[in-house]
Amino acid sequence: AVKRTPFIAGNWKMNLDHLQSIAFVQKLAWSLSDAKHDFGAVEVAVFPPFTDLRSVQTLVSADKLALGYGAQDVSRHDAGAYTGEVSGAFLAQLDCRYVIVGHSERRSYHGETDEVVGAKALAAVKHRLVPVICVGETAEDLEEHGPSAVPAAQLEAALSGLKSDAEIVVAYEPVWAIGSGQAATPEQAGQVAAALRGVVARVLGEEAAERTRILYGGSVKAANIAAFMREPDVDGALVGGASLDIEEFSSIVRYQK
Ligand code: PEP
Repeated sequence: AVKRTPFIAGNWKMNLDHLQSIAFVQKLAWSLSDAKHDFGAVEVAVFPPFTDLRSVQTLVSADKLALGYGAQDVSRHDAGAYTGEVSGAFLAQLDCRYVIVGHSERRSYHGETDEVVGAKALAAVKHRLVPVICVGETAEDLEEHGPSAVPAAQLEAALSGLKSDAEIVVAYEPVWAIGSGQAATPEQAGQVAAALRGVVARVLGEEAAERTRILYGGSVKAANIAAFMREPDVDGALVGGASLDIEEFSSIVRYQK
């Protein structure tokens, strides 16, 4: 079987301006440089606001930090009359490796449909960015359809335009678990992650399913990360609130199985 490198991703949301991001990344790098953190063993990336990306790029490249980064959203378009949008080409020029697409906050506050999320995933891949495709059910969905039906349908739609060799990351983020302090149980996260791997297999093929990392997100903390990582289909975490606390985020990165 293919070995998937565990991936811990920090979604800063709309927090930390570019000056704060410089101080934060320096402190995070210092905290992670502890000998106990083996960067080959666990990959780490941060997702700052757009206005921070140039500062983060400068720090990461100057100090050769083993820290990935990416944006929280991307336009489905390459360039043109799309006021307020940011092209994947621009993100790639700033050496972003990743971009989040379809976060539940984009879906619910900005009306992003499965079709839009799929177009954004495609735009990301076109610009050689790895889309971190977020899917997840609301509390009502959970009651009505059970845990995996809605996220599986969202993922199927998001993958529909991609080729089998596309590199993607999937994040299962139950909406009711985001920022609520009420994480899913590791068993539930593991079951949905397995179902989502099945979707990747069906749409992009077995090989893609084997290598694609599937993250859990929703109230992940230092205290619960290890239990999620013990699930065979959970390959990492997308961390919101706790990614803004350097001690907490470093402890998450240093989880012990
Ligand atoms: C998120 O918004 O992606 C998230 C998982 O948030 P939190 O960790 O704060 O629940």
